[in-house]
Amino acid sequence: MPKVTIQEVKRYAKRTAVAIVGFLALLTALLTWAWHERADIADTGLHPQVVDDPPDAAVTATWLGVTMLLFDDGETQVLVDGFVSRPTLFEALTGSPVTCDAPMINYVMNEYGIDRLAAIVPAHSHYDHAMDVGAIANRSSASILGSESTANIARGYGVPEDQIVVAEAGEPYSFGDFTVTLIPSAHAPIGLRGAVPLAGTVDGPLELPAPISAWREGGSFSIVISHPQGTTLVQGSAGYREGALDDVQADVVMLGVGMLESLGRNYTERYWQALVTSTGATRVFPVHFEDQTQPFGEIVLLPKLIDNFARTAQWLRAMRDTWDRDTQLYLPTFGQPLVLYPEQAPDA
Ligand SMILES: [Zn+2]
Repeated sequence: MPKVTIQEVKRYAKRTAVAIVGFLALLTALLTWAWHERADIADTGLHPQVVDDPPDAAVTATWLGVTMLLFDDGETQVLVDGFVSRPTLFEALTGSPVTCDAPMINYVMNEYGIDRLAAIVPAHSHYDHAMDVGAIANRSSASILGSESTANIARGYGVPEDQIVVAEAGEPYSFGDFTVTLIPSAHAPIGLRGAVPLAGTVDGPLELPAPISAWREGGSFSIVISHPQGTTLVQGSAGYREGALDDVQADVVMLGVGMLESLGRNYTERYWQALVTSTGATRVFPVHFEDQTQPFGEIVLLPKLIDNFARTAQWLRAMRDTWDRDTQLYLPTFGQPLVLYPEQAPDA
């Protein structure tokens, strides 16, 4: 048996160490490059809606990132989702405990005139939809309408019980001239092997700070927001249930497109047909397409490696041209009221 000297062992260990360091350096460089390799919003080929001379009495929705949308008819406001605090990528990846960003929430409520809020309705209970619902409810007299998990998020934040409403599926709830109906739907199957990430429920009051994994899905809803001027359907996550929207007619769809690209074009076609073709919507605004680890107000697309929205947008345009030629597909403009039903609004 050949004799291995101590020098040879040392030399071998050194070479192995150099190889490992080199490999890690290369991997880091590749990941850094991939993280910065993002499409530009202009690459989507989508444009904002331009309404000349919007009527005074128009119903509007102001997009505040992910699927947070402030509906307003001039008298009553209804807010879909509450997500202002935006934990960083580091906090999300490491599971660091996070809490609501009170100064930022105060700023947003002031800046966007959230002062006639009647209801807060999260699409589901993941942190990027429901993290700040309690903090917003406590700064208003709004009801929180959602699942039992959503109710527990509110309770953990000390929202009074008389502001918490666990929604009955398919039941209409009135807030001023708005009627809100929650229809059970599915979350996008974007986890491992088609699973829903952070599935499950929030079973007791969610006390903060907590890691983002504490906000469990708690069931997903299609949110139908009707008004005498028209109906908007908000789909927070890119999931659908076959036939669930058969009885729903909508003028506008706020179409959650997060991670849709990874689910493939065939899935996207079925999703489009279930949400847009079947409801007869004539106006579609994709939402939930930006990197949610960026601060509030910064709309940057995700790295292409994770979700290439420019490609998804190309598919959506092709689907519109195939099945729904009268449907307009618009990019929402952050923080600016979108006029939902320009033809129906009476001139005041
Ligand atoms: Zn989600």
